[in-house]
Amino acid sequence: MNLDFLKALGLADHNQGIAIGGNWSDGAGKTISSHSPADGRCIGTVNLATEADYHKVIEAAQKDFSAWRNMPAPKRGEIVRQIGEAFRKHKDDLGALVSYEMGKSLQEGLGEVQEMIDIADFAVGLSRQLHGLTMHSERPSHRMYEQWHPLGVVGIISAFNFPVAVWSWNAFLAWVCGDVCIWKPSEKTPLSAIACQKIAAEVFEANQVPAGVSGLIIGDAEIGKLMAADQRIPLVSATGSSRMGKSVGAAVGARLGKSLLELGGNNAMIISPNADLNIAIVGALFGAVGTCGQRCTSTRRLIVHESMLEEVKAKLSSAYGQLKIGNPLDESNHVGPLIDQDAVNTYLKAIQQAKEEGAEVIIDGKVLEGDQYSSGCYVQPAVFLVQNDYKIVQQETFAPILYLISYSTLEEAIHIQNDVPQGLSSAIMTLNMREAEQFLSVNGSDCGIANVNIGTSGAEIGGAFGGEKETGGGRESGSDAWKVYMRRQTNTINYGSDLPLAQGIKFDL
Ligand code: NAD
Repeated sequence: MNLDFLKALGLADHNQGIAIGGNWSDGAGKTISSHSPADGRCIGTVNLATEADYHKVIEAAQKDFSAWRNMPAPKRGEIVRQIGEAFRKHKDDLGALVSYEMGKSLQEGLGEVQEMIDIADFAVGLSRQLHGLTMHSERPSHRMYEQWHPLGVVGIISAFNFPVAVWSWNAFLAWVCGDVCIWKPSEKTPLSAIACQKIAAEVFEANQVPAGVSGLIIGDAEIGKLMAADQRIPLVSATGSSRMGKSVGAAVGARLGKSLLELGGNNAMIISPNADLNIAIVGALFGAVGTCGQRCTSTRRLIVHESMLEEVKAKLSSAYGQLKIGNPLDESNHVGPLIDQDAVNTYLKAIQQAKEEGAEVIIDGKVLEGDQYSSGCYVQPAVFLVQNDYKIVQQETFAPILYLISYSTLEEAIHIQNDVPQGLSSAIMTLNMREAEQFLSVNGSDCGIANVNIGTSGAEIGGAFGGEKETGGGRESGSDAWKVYMRRQTNTINYGSDLPLAQGIKFDL
């Protein structure tokens, strides 16, 4: 396989994993290797950071915050524009690396880099729109308004499944807001992060921006825990499992810091008797098997009206039968591998548990064997008919397992949809306006994302992205999500010659 993209991105057999801007050093912790789930090859090694490495990066960030926050926001936006341009230039190579290191299809790897470019464009416009409100004061000759100031150091902890985009959603907005960023990516995808840091650091250097504005720390959960507990990081944005989010949320909360939590989903699509089945099946299929079921917004449950169940089963079986599973860099394949052996074991255990709890097998799962599957990470996407209250159905299994659940009334379907601990993405497939509006109403979906006639998987950057309950409540990307990266200050100015005191109190001196 042609791996020229590694060289084009400046990656070597061994890579330094600690960066303060473009100043790189080796972590003093143990050496880890990044293996491609596509073919099992070792792509490169990197050393994990220790606590001492971590403190150096934080200190640099703290020091350089002052210079960055004093640069006018539109000038910061101009630098983010150049960063977006740099990612445009590197799109093909970085997209290929994301695909090879994480295992998602090449189109999805390229799509992820495109999201970075899009969020850069969004952030550039935003840099001229970080505006607050003005209010009428109740006191004469007084004026009130609010303004938004940067917070300081923003810590970004990211998951393996979006190894580059999650950083950009956070960092590009935080940078235009005047914050400095420290990124701890997933230790499962360190090389994608190193490549991004190199691309961004070159732009910062060309603009003589101090190095501490952008820091990278390749480390494990211990580094994430240091970030969560660190008073010097006013905002920790953490993307990953709900288990991780509970730990980070508690540690940040204990020091009364701010956290932005983007955690697990257990997303459902309702297929009503009024659905256009052609789009419903495509939406369900892509949602369930895309990225091999490793998206936070992957469709995990399909809540199907009882009158449609047999037809949906038949159509799904036919669609699943046509799936091409194989090397993600081969564009003719629809489904790539799971990230690693642990993920394969979790998939197998979930299938076993579903069967033990009474699931009816529609399409059975298995680990695929043969030369092209030699990494051991390729699995058959599976479908089971279940009850929503099975313990395994209540959990997020990060793998291509789709649970079918039947319903008879819309109220019941909405109840099933909401009756899980997570609240990220949801969808209804219906051409009936009353059903659609009911689903979106206060009595409808309890998720952060609720769609009509499109699937649960993915989202446009223009909207605020995130979910409720065990998904963590955070919002990032579009709409007014930028506000979380800033602190609001309310200002009252007296331009008169009297000082009216609150509550009519008089001080006659
Ligand atoms: P994970 O929770 O295992 O790890 C995520 C990150 O957190 C990694 O960088 C890891 O090193 C770090 N980490 C782990 N434990 C930590 C702790 N106690 N303190 C601080 N940091 C810690 O998740 P993963 O397997 O990499 O990713 C898959 C999960 O991420 C799924 O649950 C998926 O739904 C979720 N996810 C959510 C979103 C979203 O926007 N809601 C997006 C992508 C992924």
